[in-house]
Amino acid sequence: MTPATLPAAAPPSLPALAAALAAPTELAQAVGVLAAAGVPTAGLTLGGGDRVLLGLHRALTGRDVAIAAACPSCGVLGEVVLTADTLPPPSGVGDGPVRPPTYADLAGLPVGSAGAAELLRRCTVAGRGPATADDLAGVDDSLCGPLVFGCPACAEPVRCAVDAQTLALRGLLDLLRRYDREIHLLAAAYHWDLATIEALPDSRRSRLAAYVEAER
Ligand SMILES: [Zn+2]
Repeated sequence: MTPATLPAAAPPSLPALAAALAAPTELAQAVGVLAAAGVPTAGLTLGGGDRVLLGLHRALTGRDVAIAAACPSCGVLGEVVLTADTLPPPSGVGDGPVRPPTYADLAGLPVGSAGAAELLRRCTVAGRGPATADDLAGVDDSLCGPLVFGCPACAEPVRCAVDAQTLALRGLLDLLRRYDREIHLLAAAYHWDLATIEALPDSRRSRLAAYVEAER
């Protein structure tokens, strides 16, 4: 199977990010963030999208998505960092009966087992069926599921559940909460309107908000 190359993404402005994250479902939020970054999602695989979201998280927040879990043997907390650079590239279309699912494949799926069957039908390559749920699981490289890493203290395997989409969006929501807090501080202190504050460069807005905070 040929690895797919990741599409180029341009980090969106914080107002554009806020609009994307106002969507009602996590899937719609992910699609909105990718669209705001100039990445069309119709033909994008979930694995490719997860990797782009991890890159946008780093570009916007200045840090990588990380997940921590305690070792069941010694209790020491270990941390795994998820980045597109440290993960294998997303898989492309191989010669099996199914192709990796894309964001378009998830649109309007029925709930429950009917949805799983419909997704399998959509991802089955014409003339290569029938396919099974295992075939689909084998090509779906979205970053969602159990992850195992070695405990930093005793090297015992530590298992934790990971969902890159959820973790990346959660980090972006935290960023927006800080952004809203800074806007609130500046609006209350200087009585500037929203457009004026949103037009400030990020570093300047953060610095001014820190002054306001310090003098409260
Ligand atoms: Zn341990």
